[in-house]
Amino acid sequence: LEATRLSKSFPLGGFLSRSRRKVLQDVSFSLERGEILALVGESGSGKSTLARLLARLDTPDGGELRLHGENVLAHDGRAASLSYRARVQMVFQDPFASLNPVHTVAYHLERSLLRHGKAQGVELKRRVHALLESVGLTPVEQFAQRYPHELSGGQRQRVAVARALAVEPDVIIADEPTSMLDVSTRRGVLQLLKGLTRERGIGILFITHDLASARHLADRVLVLYAGSVVETGHTREVLQTPRHPYTRLLLSAVPDGVDFLRTPLPARTPAGPAPPLGCAFAPRCPHADVRCHESFPPFHHSAAEHHVRCHLESSKGVPDDAAVSS
Ligand code: SF4
Ligand code: MG
Repeated sequence: LEATRLSKSFPLGGFLSRSRRKVLQDVSFSLERGEILALVGESGSGKSTLARLLARLDTPDGGELRLHGENVLAHDGRAASLSYRARVQMVFQDPFASLNPVHTVAYHLERSLLRHGKAQGVELKRRVHALLESVGLTPVEQFAQRYPHELSGGQRQRVAVARALAVEPDVIIADEPTSMLDVSTRRGVLQLLKGLTRERGIGILFITHDLASARHLADRVLVLYAGSVVETGHTREVLQTPRHPYTRLLLSAVPDGVDFLRTPLPARTPAGPAPPLGCAFAPRCPHADVRCHESFPPFHHSAAEHHVRCHLESSKGVPDDAAVSS
């Protein structure tokens, strides 16, 4: 799955208003088979908007989205959306909201299998049981007959994962899949996702505000701030040698970065119809200078596959670590 320069803005103050707020700007990334890419950002960073674009629940203003090299935005309508959904599945934050309370677990899975022509007749039951087995919901006969309210949060999220798997997708987009689960349950669901990428070669885009989960799970991370990607690279590299002042702040705030991300951002001046000038992080950045307020920083190559969107990278004056992180 490959996104190139995705942008999205929403009108400010009603649909007749001409001023718009940019929610995503120039977001690019690629996700390979069997890879987990974590998209890390605090609330308001544009994570959910991006998830909606990738799920094709909404359309970007600009940019491209390719799956196996094919431009998916070029096709519209029900058939195109069904064929996309057969390859890209979503797992949402709230597993209770995504399951229908009046139907059993088996019904949810059968419906997906039938809808995508994966099984029918006597084969259905066998497939449902195999799916439940693969997400660790055993004894399978018992779980198949349960209703959503008879399951714990973690079990419901496993059903949501089984339903995504029923379609045999290439990609799963998991939008904060564990943020509503308690810590002990969380790890099991994350391990499950990790196992699936490895065994089945599914690519997972793991959207999270929780740097600790990203650290355990992801091969690569992409740090989103105010709608643009500020740093991306291999997880270990980015977390050990973060280069963007925001990533550094994130990592220095608390050991796992969680509390910092829950702290609301100071209100930002909404951008007008023209592209916002300068770096969005400038009001909070200890290194901001004139240039930062005047021009949007380009991406710089820092090391192999490690990219940073910061003006400091273009000058030799790489910031003094002491000023930010220690
Ligand atoms: Fe800070 Fe400037 Fe880099 Fe933005 S571009 S993060 S304001 S130094
Ligand atoms: Mg969100």
